[in-house]
Amino acid sequence: MNLHEYQGKEILNSFGVRIQRGIVAQNKNEAVAAAKQLTAETGTGWHVIKAQVHAGGRGKGGGVKLAKNLEQVEEIAGQIIGMNLITPQTSAEGKKVHQVLVAEDVYYPTEGGETKEFYMSVLLNRSSGRNMIMYSTEGGMDIETVAEETPHLIFTEEIDPSVGLMPFQARRVAFNLGLSGAAFKDMTKFVSALYKAYVSSDASLFEINPVLKTTDDKIMAVDAKVTIDDNALYRHRDYVDMRDLREENPIEVEAKEVGLNYVDLDGNVGCMVNGAGLAMATMDLIKQAGGEPANFLDVGGTADAKRVEEAFRIILKDPNVKAILINIFGGIVRCDRVAQGVVDAYKNMGDAIKVPIIVRLQGTNADIAKELIDNSGLDVQSAVQFQEAADKVQAVIG
Ligand code: GDP
Ligand code: MN
Repeated sequence: MNLHEYQGKEILNSFGVRIQRGIVAQNKNEAVAAAKQLTAETGTGWHVIKAQVHAGGRGKGGGVKLAKNLEQVEEIAGQIIGMNLITPQTSAEGKKVHQVLVAEDVYYPTEGGETKEFYMSVLLNRSSGRNMIMYSTEGGMDIETVAEETPHLIFTEEIDPSVGLMPFQARRVAFNLGLSGAAFKDMTKFVSALYKAYVSSDASLFEINPVLKTTDDKIMAVDAKVTIDDNALYRHRDYVDMRDLREENPIEVEAKEVGLNYVDLDGNVGCMVNGAGLAMATMDLIKQAGGEPANFLDVGGTADAKRVEEAFRIILKDPNVKAILINIFGGIVRCDRVAQGVVDAYKNMGDAIKVPIIVRLQGTNADIAKELIDNSGLDVQSAVQFQEAADKVQAVIG
């Protein structure tokens, strides 16, 4: 589950990670009230107004702006809320902004002091099976560019899970970032708190870009991209409410509600398969035959008429679907029952199905199932072999 910046920062703050403070606002009046409250709490007169969408690069797209007084807060919040924010990380249509974070300005000047921006993320290194802190002196830039152009400026610190982050490791981070004095000390605290937050919240990714050294040597998170492992959400009931369905694919949200494992893809061949492994193999086969899968869909163990109908409805919500391939192995669930389910679902749906359907059923009672499909009188073709199914799909989409 991906979180908004303001939600990620709430989690960081709860584990003692210093953050740029802010208050979320749904409209420009709330933004002005938020700015006033922040001024009362922090003394700052300047604020940054930040679009809250699940995409990075907001600054480049005009979604992060500095306001030097309350009139500007109102004006900028009014501009950003409701806008379609296009950034290097969104699609060409961009993302609708529903809310902004009004945050204290933390780039204030002080006599003789200067700000510095760093990059820091915590994630799982899958090849070593260990958590890793990745960090760089090149903050505020997109890390892929740093990795390409100046890879020697990216450092990593791997953490032994049975011991946790050791103090010397936190010191090494601060050292490699070129810090000294109070900033060095504050960075070691920041790193330790950040790692603790990552482990305790069951996150799969923290990306803090930039981590800021203020002019008076405080280290804080200015941005926060936080992803929580869905499989651990049962341990964090308070995070569950943070899910913002407006940011997610609407078809995937609906599929989840009816208990289908569905992932929307770009192609035009809808897939209905039982078992994640067979679903992936089916997608490969469609590609090999020259097609593109429109989705990944695992209907699970009970492919009865109701289930098949739900799956049909979800697949057909994608307007790109030109054909549907049903590929089901009948082990415990017999093929003839699945075939009957397909026929019943098709009939139930009236004329909602306007694309050809190719069905391959293998396993118990496969022959009876094929007969059922062939004699149904519907626009459903049966296939016996895997390849035959893919070829038939190609033939109908051309
Ligand atoms: P992103 O563009 O989506 O990654 O959003 P960020 O939260 O990283 O903000 C983008 C940029 O806005 C940062 O790199 C900063 O340069 C700038 N910014 C963020 N907070 C402040 C602030 O308090 N004051 C000023 N002057 N600039 C800020
Ligand atoms: Mn950022």
